[in-house]
Amino acid sequence: MNTPENKNVAETHGCVVCAKVFSVLAVYTPGGKLLDCTVTSPGGHIVPDKQQPLVACNTHPEDEIESAYKRWQSNNKMKGSDSEYENE
Ligand SMILES: [Zn+2]
Repeated sequence: MNTPENKNVAETHGCVVCAKVFSVLAVYTPGGKLLDCTVTSPGGHIVPDKQQPLVACNTHPEDEIESAYKRWQSNNKMKGSDSEYENE
């Protein structure tokens, strides 16, 4: 009998701050949900996100990563929908 297994996927992702590319090992559930991820290149670490692996260089201060991450999130939202609603 076959039990569904989590899938390990090797991916490359750019740093959210400076777009430097890192290798990432991501683990997905059989349903395609991101379970875990690890940076396999030196000098980078994971920025926690529920939907997908995100990375940042170890050299960036935390507040810089956070503001870049927020910017990334809003960019992503804009790409995903053409809704005109904005909470300003
Ligand atoms: Zn960077």
